[in-house]
Amino acid sequence: MLNKKKFYINGEWVNPHKEDNCEVINPCNEDPFAVISLGSKEDIDKAVKSAKTAFITWKETSKEQRLNFLKKLLSIYKKRFSEMAEAISLEMGAPINWASDVQTASGQTHLEDFILRLKNFKFDEHFDEKSNNHIYYEPIGVCGLITPWNWPINQIVLKVIPAFATGCTMILKPSEIAPISGMLFTEMIDEAGFPKGVFNLVNGDGAGVGTQISSHPNIDMVSFTGSTRAGRLISKNASETIKRVCLELGGKGGNIVFADSYKDAVRDGIRNVMSNSGQSCDAPTRMLVEKSIYERAVKDAVDEANKIQVDQASKKGDHIGPVISKTQYNKIISLIESGITEGATLAAGGPELPNGLNKGYFIKPTIFTDVTNEMKIGKEEIFGPVLSIIPFETEDEAVKIVNDTSYGLGNYLQTEDKEKAHRVAKKLRSGCVYINGNPADAGTPFGGYRQSGNGREGGVWGLEEYLEVKTVTGWR
Ligand code: NAD
Repeated sequence: MLNKKKFYINGEWVNPHKEDNCEVINPCNEDPFAVISLGSKEDIDKAVKSAKTAFITWKETSKEQRLNFLKKLLSIYKKRFSEMAEAISLEMGAPINWASDVQTASGQTHLEDFILRLKNFKFDEHFDEKSNNHIYYEPIGVCGLITPWNWPINQIVLKVIPAFATGCTMILKPSEIAPISGMLFTEMIDEAGFPKGVFNLVNGDGAGVGTQISSHPNIDMVSFTGSTRAGRLISKNASETIKRVCLELGGKGGNIVFADSYKDAVRDGIRNVMSNSGQSCDAPTRMLVEKSIYERAVKDAVDEANKIQVDQASKKGDHIGPVISKTQYNKIISLIESGITEGATLAAGGPELPNGLNKGYFIKPTIFTDVTNEMKIGKEEIFGPVLSIIPFETEDEAVKIVNDTSYGLGNYLQTEDKEKAHRVAKKLRSGCVYINGNPADAGTPFGGYRQSGNGREGGVWGLEEYLEVKTVTGWR
């Protein structure tokens, strides 16, 4: 059993204020493999005090000084890349190839991109030619960073690096369900030699440390990625102190497959949803298919889903692993059962365990057809390997169905007609629209409309989240 009970406060690993432990479970075999501490108010107060003190000098560092620290961190991240992949694979059951080539790689990509954006970022701008006014961009202060388990290092890097880059100091609380990658990243930060107090880590759960961070009077901003449920509570808890609250929340992405889409559009859509065992906030879990190709699309979709293997995280290959926890497993299985009860047609997968796997939170890639937006599976974020296929007749109808949700994170569309693609992309109410399977480039903003959140992470937009904007007039 790994002993991971310490916190990182003021540049050193310290014991928690009081003993309150939590086991970390391996989702492949349901056994605990590590133990962490859940922090208390005293731990958060200590971390905030250290971050507040460090802010006095860290905010005065030059861009070049901060770039040097980030470059050092990047080289350590590259050196310890395989350790990070193993940590993510173990804590969230992600197959090792996926954990390495996608999850761990995403952290490196964001780190590299922030270094580039910071190099070109102007913290002081002349307002316009006719004016002697200046606009200054200044670090907001002490930041509380709360992250989820599903893209653990991706989400941590998207918050910690822009906070460093802009001159903020911080307290990170990774997910208590997958905290090992965050602790390993803390070791890397320690190795890079950032001044003490700039970065602090306190583990804990949402009700405890999460609430302490959201409501703390000396935390100037909270940046949160996770469920819309927790986002709502964080906003309420933060309201008393009027701190800035940046939210990256859930989604219920639509993928419109027009009749003129490329040959493998349906198969690629299935692979996309099922990857990471369906645990991505921007997974396109509702596939809308134009009626004229509906039958062929369902056949392709079922065939592709049946080809996807479900297996152990330690095995090499392109299979998918289990879902994260017993709670998530039970929630997903009950949603699959509700789909059957509410009259959708189960076309692939189902609630039984995949062949040969009797332990662990494994779920078969599951496809429903004849789904309507009134059904639970059509409305709720399932966060597992489950897809609904919905037919449509006209472009307007497809847009209406996709937008008929309280979320607005990532939507997708497939067509060979360029004009139609851009016309439809404009009508979709979401922070990202991916056309024909093309990914978003590093440095583009990521975030949601409506109940998918109010923030933008990545690139220049990610830096701006951590900055105050000040107008300074010139001499008369
Ligand atoms: P979660 O909301 O249960 O937990 C996320 C984090 O918030 C954890 O660290 C948890 O301890 C903490 N937390 C929980 N309740 C809290 C509270 N009341 N106050 C403060 N902190 C609290 O979410 P999860 O299950 O870890 O992650 C899955 C969710 O995250 C999904 O809904 C997914 O769509 C969303 N997500 C969104 C994005 C995005 O960029 N929009 C990215 C990844 C995941």
